[in-house]
Amino acid sequence: SGGSTSSQGRAIATAQTTQDERLVVAVRVRPSLEAAERCIDVISGGSLLYDDGSKNRPRQYSYDHVFRENDTQEQVYKTTTAPLVRDVLSGFNAAVFAYGATGSGKTHTMLGPVPRKKPATSDRAPPTAASGCETDVSSQDIGLMVRAIEDIFAHIESVEEEGACKVSISYLEIYNELIRDLLNPGGPLELREDNRGQRITVAGLSEITTSSRKEVVGLLMKGNKARTMEPTAANQTSSRSHALLSITVQTRTPLGTKQGRLFLTDLAGSERAKKTKNRGKRLQEGAHINRSLLALGNCINALSGGARYVNYRDSKLTRLLKEALSGRCKTVMIAHVAPESKHRDETKNTLVYADRANSITTKLQNSVYIDEFKDFPTKHYQSLVSELRDEV
Ligand code: ADP
Ligand code: MG
Repeated sequence: SGGSTSSQGRAIATAQTTQDERLVVAVRVRPSLEAAERCIDVISGGSLLYDDGSKNRPRQYSYDHVFRENDTQEQVYKTTTAPLVRDVLSGFNAAVFAYGATGSGKTHTMLGPVPRKKPATSDRAPPTAASGCETDVSSQDIGLMVRAIEDIFAHIESVEEEGACKVSISYLEIYNELIRDLLNPGGPLELREDNRGQRITVAGLSEITTSSRKEVVGLLMKGNKARTMEPTAANQTSSRSHALLSITVQTRTPLGTKQGRLFLTDLAGSERAKKTKNRGKRLQEGAHINRSLLALGNCINALSGGARYVNYRDSKLTRLLKEALSGRCKTVMIAHVAPESKHRDETKNTLVYADRANSITTKLQNSVYIDEFKDFPTKHYQSLVSELRDEV
């Protein structure tokens, strides 16, 4: 293949995609929760070794960033999300995804350690914060969501005149393809599109303007409690829902109001239905979850390849994130893995998913031709689709 038009097309596509790295892929290894055999060994800030338990030599995987178990929340924030916050303040959209199996540390990264349920006796104690939920997460442990909001406040205070900026947040979950408000839980909410399908909003979703760190932590913890938790064989409190925080920054300028939006997503567990012995309702959830993860992967692949047409319509998640994923948007995927050997299979699945996403950026930097590239996502997703068919 390849006439003169196509080589021209190649050159343009390559130049555009190398300039703005749209997709950054990081892997975060959570600390071992028990003294157990390990399947992961981080060997640098960008690579790790994975041991499949056979006699084969451990396999090396490389990513834009690899966070080891004692890397701090601050390091993860500075490397992955802080650069996006600067974009958002300049009026662009950006998105961060926490991907991984249940128990791999997604919520820890996004929110921080979630306070455990107190023993029955403490139920008699009066509620603490105004919001009625615990906010006793030490500032060191605080996750990306609150860090991003604080960072935005700090920038605004240092640069802008009083009242020129407005920061508001909304927090929702997608569970079984239904949208629920996590700041004001109630019945399912509907997506609304304007005439040309360009702007998508959630009808009735609360949008809260705030400037207090304590209030933000309280709101997010409370919202997290409102997430749909269902027991599966993999984890008693596994979260089968996607949680999506959106932070909107509006700045008044002499030329009008500019708006940037940061989407921070704590995705549902990526484990396969088979693995968790799910049946009936659980199995249906698994199918929905995989459908949106699949749709998200498809969109990211298409965007990274500079595709002219990207299909956002396959899931609520991608429809909602269209605004963030299209245009001049940067996306960070933080894939989470557990180091214990017993989680070997899920860890492998996550490493492979992240590796595919990562190889896209790397290949583009090395000037891979766009028409060779076209086949890449389809091959990968054909196998995923047949895997999903097996499950149903
Ligand atoms: P997920 O949201 O992916 O299901 P969690 O964030 O709930 O996983 O993490 C599972 C457990 O591991 C929790 O008890 C959490 O506090 C702990 N954990 C995860 N990541 C870390 C980390 N980086 N440092 C300390 N503890 C962690
Ligand atoms: Mg979680």
